[in-house]
Amino acid sequence: MIYWLGPTSSTPQQRTMAQAKSWVLKKHFEGFPKDSDFELKLEQLSEPKDGEVLLEALFLSVDPYMRPYSRVRMQEGDVMIGTQVAKVIKSNNHSFPVGCHVVGRCGWRTHTVSDGSDLTKVWDDWPQDVPLSHAIGAMGMPGLTALYGLEEVCAIKSGETLLVNAAAGAVGSVAGQIAKLKGCKVVGSAGSDNKVAYLKELGFDEAFNYKTVPSLEEALKKASPEGYDCYFENVGGPFSSVAIPQMKAFGRIAVCGGISLYNDTTPQTGPYPHMHMIFKQLKMEGFLVGRWEHKNEESLKRMLTWMQEGKLKCKEHVTVGFENMPAAFMGMLQGENIGKAVVKV
Ligand code: NDP
Repeated sequence: MIYWLGPTSSTPQQRTMAQAKSWVLKKHFEGFPKDSDFELKLEQLSEPKDGEVLLEALFLSVDPYMRPYSRVRMQEGDVMIGTQVAKVIKSNNHSFPVGCHVVGRCGWRTHTVSDGSDLTKVWDDWPQDVPLSHAIGAMGMPGLTALYGLEEVCAIKSGETLLVNAAAGAVGSVAGQIAKLKGCKVVGSAGSDNKVAYLKELGFDEAFNYKTVPSLEEALKKASPEGYDCYFENVGGPFSSVAIPQMKAFGRIAVCGGISLYNDTTPQTGPYPHMHMIFKQLKMEGFLVGRWEHKNEESLKRMLTWMQEGKLKCKEHVTVGFENMPAAFMGMLQGENIGKAVVKV
């Protein structure tokens, strides 16, 4: 149902103003999100004032973090949080002229009036052969997450063995490829045979479908009998309980995400990792990509070069239509995506 937030009749001046569609969190998620938790609203936007711009969304991101963050950062009735690639269509801010593209933390909206504080300009020299949507994917936050998890948290070295789960997704697929670029052996797990085939195509040394292997423990042992130096953790829960005992001594675990826990209504419990952590002297570190924001420009240039050289491949799972945002979000949480899940308006 579309709920109208604007006046019932409009003046000629108001008619020239932009109308925004937005998706709000109607009801906090309980367990897995459902259609009735979201509501599509219409809103009449005011003209951008001095220092402000009017944005039109081109691509919106649906990310796993929206599920846990909705509980801690949002109230019922708030616009769903999220980033988008948008075009500046009106500007009273010389930093963001009309026609330029930005990555904005605008939430799930088609149009936004912004003062620029929540915007990052897409480089003027963004290569024509690189889709703009990659600015919220491999050449944006998820790609940077992969890079920093490996370089800053794991400090991964050539010759080491990496385990990555949710490996065919936005972060995992980039993490595995970067580790290959660094001369590592890479083992990935994913939730379908198509995803496993994709990982092989990307150059992963070993890949398996965690949903169909008879034993996760055996699959991990078979993929790397000598164990794992580094573990890029996207999933958590029972997967990690099986993976942690297979770390080598002094192994490093980058705790990037725990998607198997995000929809829980009651917290899962052990087995607990302490004995393995102690006797193998493991290092386990959680991180948020924003910690290394000061390095983003240099990091993105590095990754863009890899991509243009054909060393880093990026797939997208594109859902067309702003009205399909909730479906795209829930589909991603269910594993429908290979690569980055985005919505094209
Ligand atoms: P993905 O593109 O990987 O999409 C999510 C994937 O998670 C699905 O495709 C699905 O793949 C998998 N999945 C869903 N439920 C489960 C489950 N119960 N068990 C195992 N796998 C599951 O998302 P992202 O690449 O954007 O994010 C990956 C992880 O990284 C998430 O945990 C996210 O929260 C985290 N993250 C952390 C950041 C940080 O700064 N720390 C920044 C960005 C992301 P499959 O078919 O393989 O099951």
